[in-house]
Amino acid sequence: MTVAPWPAQSGNRRRQHVVIVGSGFGGLTAAQSLKNVDVDVTLIAKTTSHLFQPLLYQVATGILSEGEIAPSTRLVLRDQDNVRVVLGEVEDVNLAAKTVTSKLMTMETVTPFDSVIVAAGAQQSYFGNDHFAMFAPGMKTIDDALELRGRILGAFEAAEVSTDEAERRRRLTFVVVGAGPTGVELAGQIAELAQRTLVGAFRTINPSDCRVILLDAAPAVLPPMGPKLGKKVQASLEELGVEVQLNAMVSEVDYQGLTVKEKDGTERRIESACKVWSAGVQGNPLGKLIADQVDGVEVDRAGRVVVEPDLTVKGHPYAFVIGDLMFVKGVPGMAQGAIQGAKYVTKLIKESLEGRDDPANRKPFKYFDKGSMATVSRFDAVVKVGRIEFGGFIAWLMWLALHLVYLVGFKNRFSTLLTWLITFSSHSRGQMAITSQMVYARLAMHQLQAKQGELAAVEEAERAERAEDSA
Ligand SMILES: Cc1cc2nc3c(=O)[nH]c(=O)nc-3n(C[C@H](O)[C@H](O)[C@H](O)COP(=O)(O)OP(=O)(O)OC[C@H]3O[C@@H](n4cnc5c(N)ncnc54)[C@H](O)[C@@H]3O)c2cc1C
Repeated sequence: MTVAPWPAQSGNRRRQHVVIVGSGFGGLTAAQSLKNVDVDVTLIAKTTSHLFQPLLYQVATGILSEGEIAPSTRLVLRDQDNVRVVLGEVEDVNLAAKTVTSKLMTMETVTPFDSVIVAAGAQQSYFGNDHFAMFAPGMKTIDDALELRGRILGAFEAAEVSTDEAERRRRLTFVVVGAGPTGVELAGQIAELAQRTLVGAFRTINPSDCRVILLDAAPAVLPPMGPKLGKKVQASLEELGVEVQLNAMVSEVDYQGLTVKEKDGTERRIESACKVWSAGVQGNPLGKLIADQVDGVEVDRAGRVVVEPDLTVKGHPYAFVIGDLMFVKGVPGMAQGAIQGAKYVTKLIKESLEGRDDPANRKPFKYFDKGSMATVSRFDAVVKVGRIEFGGFIAWLMWLALHLVYLVGFKNRFSTLLTWLITFSSHSRGQMAITSQMVYARLAMHQLQAKQGELAAVEEAERAERAEDSA
């Protein structure tokens, strides 16, 4: 099925059609920046919501609900008449034919474009060990966060009924792999959950006896924030009871636990029921699909498209790749990189409509570093803006304020602020429900897909046999 440029709003005159892939920071900002611009916009994404990834760890640890950090994209853009939101997984971006092909269940949609902005983000990288994912989910999507909440809270429940001491210890050992901001935040929150929220709620176990281990192959915590803040964060985590293990590379992950290789080559085991992977990211596969279409365009080691200085794919002045999927030296995979990239490319599109854009003489994209921050626990965060580095309560207040500002929607901001007030001033957390679906759905889907694959193979073999018999 082909979708004509949508919709012909200005009588018979066909307006320029901009197709945006992704509803994350890059995609949503691009769509909003084209408000009141004389173009039709189709935003295609495989999820129905705009996800605020920096707060996923709070969904995983029972503080926020998924709705608070992932408003419906369709509702956010409801009043922007020139945008149509399409749910579907993009399978092809054809630069020569200028079409984007997406699929929703068995329905295929081919959407033509004049300009395309690909903001499909990144996914978890297991550095070639994809089988780790089954036992150590990452934290990139709402599904991931809810599954983790199920696994974390489920581990305490299993420990409560376990009568075997070794198994109880295994259930009460949480391992977070990767000491970047996500790993630090998650490890800190699991420790706080055990020590504050769950205290006194079990009869056989003492939740605060649990081990929370933060592992990294690197020699430091939060390397991009520099040694001073890294050491400060490590000390705060250790004060919370988190065991920080550095220079420790994970070489195997299985149901029972994981194997760690030390710097000297020796290996050791950690028996742990609940493992989380926050160690690496990899560009969305659409990046390679795009790069493979043009001679001389490559993806870097992390699968990000090496774009031109104006964020275009070489030779295609109106095909842009932005956000976590683009590689531009000095631009980190952070929300600001995606937001600023989206504003830059939509400005070029606006200029082209006014006849002011000369693709051969565009000013290159320039990233403005607004700094970075990470929170360790209640009342404790670190901030780095240029050469200014500090941590503690003021940093934590800044962290709260900034995250509120960037959350989409007044209602979400208000309810998140209220939830934080209650959570941080008491022991309670409002999102402690878990369901079997959270814990088992991914496994069940995996098994279903494998079964479907087997069935298809049997059917194919039978078909071949029948064809041979009739020949
Ligand atoms: C746990 C976590 C914590 C983070 N914390 C911070 C932080 O504190 N500060 C900070 O600045 N940054 C943080 N980041 C990074 C930040 O979230 C990203 O840099 C930012 O989201 C990148 O925006 P993007 O638009 O490129 O991609 P994303 O926001 O990832 O959006 C990608 C979009 O593409 C869609 N998509 C993907 N594939 C397809 C497909 N085939 N078809 C259709 N749609 C598709 C997805 O559904 C999604 O809508 C964090 C990231 C994570 C995962």
